[in-house]
Amino acid sequence: MLYRIGRSFFNRYPRLMTGLVGAVAKRVPLSVRHGKEFRETRRLLERSQWWSRARHEAYQLEQLQKTVAQAFEVSPFYRGLYGRAGVRPEDLQTLDDIRRFPTITKDDLRSHLEGMINPAVDRRSLIEFCTGGTTGPGVVIPFEESYRNRSRAFMWHLWENVGYQPHMPAAILQHRECPPEVNDGIWYEDKPSNALVLSAHRLSAKTIDRYVEALREHRPRVLIAYPSLAYLFSSYLKEIGFDEKLFDLVILGSETLYEFQRKSLEEVFQATVRIHYGHIESCTLFGYCEHSNVYHVQTEYGFTELLNDDGTPAAEGEAGEVVATNFGNRALPLVRYRTGDLAQPAAGTCECGRQYPLVEQIIGRKGDFIRTPSGATHSPILIEFLMDRVLLDGRDRFADLQIVQTQIDEILVRVVPGHDYHPEDVENFCRLLSRELDDEIAVSQETVAEIPRTDRQKKSLVVSRLDGP
Ligand SMILES: [Zn+2]
Repeated sequence: MLYRIGRSFFNRYPRLMTGLVGAVAKRVPLSVRHGKEFRETRRLLERSQWWSRARHEAYQLEQLQKTVAQAFEVSPFYRGLYGRAGVRPEDLQTLDDIRRFPTITKDDLRSHLEGMINPAVDRRSLIEFCTGGTTGPGVVIPFEESYRNRSRAFMWHLWENVGYQPHMPAAILQHRECPPEVNDGIWYEDKPSNALVLSAHRLSAKTIDRYVEALREHRPRVLIAYPSLAYLFSSYLKEIGFDEKLFDLVILGSETLYEFQRKSLEEVFQATVRIHYGHIESCTLFGYCEHSNVYHVQTEYGFTELLNDDGTPAAEGEAGEVVATNFGNRALPLVRYRTGDLAQPAAGTCECGRQYPLVEQIIGRKGDFIRTPSGATHSPILIEFLMDRVLLDGRDRFADLQIVQTQIDEILVRVVPGHDYHPEDVENFCRLLSRELDDEIAVSQETVAEIPRTDRQKKSLVVSRLDGP
């Protein structure tokens, strides 16, 4: 497969991200607040980040065997699945043996969730999160509190590795509501969290000075944001010719980060930009380190495979689907879960000395690509690029936009008009899009009041209704 690609990223951990900031600032030691699992995982990661590749693999095999055996034991779904495939947990003697076991999909989760949940856990004590989904309804994933605390320890470890320190003053630019009676709803100070919360809703060319004022007054050292909002913010700052260092560090999550966005953020904020990748399903976690913009696959978190369509591992330069097995979610073992995300492995090891497998880039979700009748595949970065060109001189023209591929030769552009909307903006956009797709696809448009979000966490720019990969 040939993709037009750019460095990009998904992360669906918003609750954990902001939760960490709040927890630290309340000055209750995290180890007390988040219990034994948190402490033990922190201790493990302190050591394991310096393990050899062989030691990581031995740990992975041990955990993988445990997860597969547990899935087989507690879940009629897995017993049936493995029975039909003619495999048993004891067949798993090397890491490569895992490829004999069938993969599972989100559709399996939707249809067989009850048969997958461990009947031995107390259902009333479980915490549940709903996954997003552009291709259907989300799925509720149950966790024990201890598993969530384990995940927190991983996130905390990754944040620390990129320079986040406890009690560091932060600015948060996500989709948190600001009380309208305080500072005209533009910002408020969340004192317990030691954070300046900035409104995403009020951010515009007209209000940008107020944001700058608040940031100058509070001097947060880190910006915690969604990539699209951080980029929007940097664009407004650029427009007013702002040239002042606002943050040391920008930590992003929950959406794709495109290369042009990362460059703009580094330039405008004069800060280090870091991002992590994970899912609500909590099977896999990748993070940047202090030295590089290459993802390190956290091998203690779960077992991650990057697979070609024929099930073989993707080589360097190829794009493989992220297929992952969780370690330690006793409530719901997920073995070889197909995430639908495509990632590109990188060879070698990082200069930081850690021996984790590396991922060069996350290039999108399978359903997020546009295909043309002649067989070309275009990643959503194309759309971002075109939007950038159309919106050069103003950001209030489209309040929202989505591309839906309804047929191999038909695309619908849905637009929610912004304050400065003119019909020629969308016509211009459609014309550019059609040209980029070599005029092989008919591009039509509709203006709508709102774009329905089936995915709670991530904004999907492209929705493909075509079957197959
Ligand atoms: Zn590194």
